[in-house]
Amino acid sequence: MGNDKTRFGLDETRIPEAWYNVIPDLKNPPAPPKVVTPDGTELGPEQIGEVMASLFPMECLKQEMSPDRWIDIPGAVIDVYKTYRPSPLLRARQLERVLGLPEGVKIFYKYEGVSPAGSHKPNTAIPQAYYNKQEGITKISTETGAGQWGSALAIAGALYGIDVEVFMVKVSYEQKPYRRILMETYGATVHASPTNLTDAGSHVLAMDPDSTGSLGIAISEAVEVAAKNADTHYSLGSVLNHVCLHQTIIGLEAIEQMQLADEEPDVVIGCVGGGSNFAGIAFPYYHRKLEGKSKARLLAVEPKACPTLTAGDYRYDLGDEAGMTPQMLMYTLGHDFVPAGIHAGGLRYHGDSPLVSQLVHEGEMEAVSVNQVACFEAAVQFARAEGILPAPESSHAIRAAIDEALAAQAAGEDRVILFNLSGHGHFDLSAYEAYNSGSLVDYDFSAGTTLSE
Ligand SMILES: *Cc1c(COP(=O)(O)O)cnc(C)c1O
Repeated sequence: MGNDKTRFGLDETRIPEAWYNVIPDLKNPPAPPKVVTPDGTELGPEQIGEVMASLFPMECLKQEMSPDRWIDIPGAVIDVYKTYRPSPLLRARQLERVLGLPEGVKIFYKYEGVSPAGSHKPNTAIPQAYYNKQEGITKISTETGAGQWGSALAIAGALYGIDVEVFMVKVSYEQKPYRRILMETYGATVHASPTNLTDAGSHVLAMDPDSTGSLGIAISEAVEVAAKNADTHYSLGSVLNHVCLHQTIIGLEAIEQMQLADEEPDVVIGCVGGGSNFAGIAFPYYHRKLEGKSKARLLAVEPKACPTLTAGDYRYDLGDEAGMTPQMLMYTLGHDFVPAGIHAGGLRYHGDSPLVSQLVHEGEMEAVSVNQVACFEAAVQFARAEGILPAPESSHAIRAAIDEALAAQAAGEDRVILFNLSGHGHFDLSAYEAYNSGSLVDYDFSAGTTLSE
């Protein structure tokens, strides 16, 4: 098995024509979202549908619950995908050499940092902006953690002539000014969340004027803006089923590329914030397992500071702090949990994709949590071997990939490891500076805070 190539490229004619929808392949039907009003009444599915229709394009809502296994990618979206896809898949030969791995232990990575935003996020920002444009929407509001989602949507908005308003988690706004400048350069408006522009933000600031913000709070603010303006929709860069759907382009390409390498992975790894890049690489392999063509373990990696899948509860919870969003059945640390300010801002989310949560709950996927210092160690080792400087989020997948390789070596086993390198870290140099100067510290779950109502 295997060959001596390093880079397994596909040309633009090999971009998949359909996304893979995992819903029809789940053992149990996914649990529907729930909305409970402040007076305790539960809304029916039709009423929830009305609320959702004020926030999202119909096409995305259809995809959210679609029973179809394959969903066609619009030709106009494929045309934009062609500017950076298929993304490369590489064998990490220099990293393998540095680690001193035996011949049977191999590390491959799919690299999503080649997109204009430097991460996987445009894979969903582009179709979401496209579907909004089709419906005549002129403005999209959203939140962003580390700034990657905001920049992806800012680019997509610029492509389709849609205004983009971004609520950026304050800790990242302060740590990552360049992401803000990037978004503004693409024409977006950016606020440090919590703001006094919304009821949700004002409420948080009244309780804690020094709040560093969280994704949950920023989502509340962005949803509020969309709910109050008819020409404005809201867009989410992770968590939701249609977002995971759009990201499956990663895994569908990876399956073809691993075939060019004459290898089947034994383990498929992705970092998890809201779960979309992990879903993107892992869901197509879940399908491949059902087809009997793969036996891969599917491994989600999250930070110890925000260990949703490994230490959270599996229950209905709100997607945001203020309760602007429906409740979803997922792993959660509680919607009012604010994790410590780790540098992997994109992984600081209290909840997780309901689809990823369900697959973990049903034992179809595994999850581990890792500390940030160990992740930066892995990221620097990777950068010095492979040349690519990883995003702090992606470094979690690298840590787990290296740990898998070393464990296989110690056990004297062969192992083919595939991980998703979700983005580059060119806008995260202050985090690398902290690591280089030895001032980076670990936080666990208990270092987070809970907003008291
Ligand atoms: C946003 C982001 C993540 C986390 O989001 P998921 O939805 O869990 O994928 C991970 N890596 C990068 C580079 C990101 O930008």
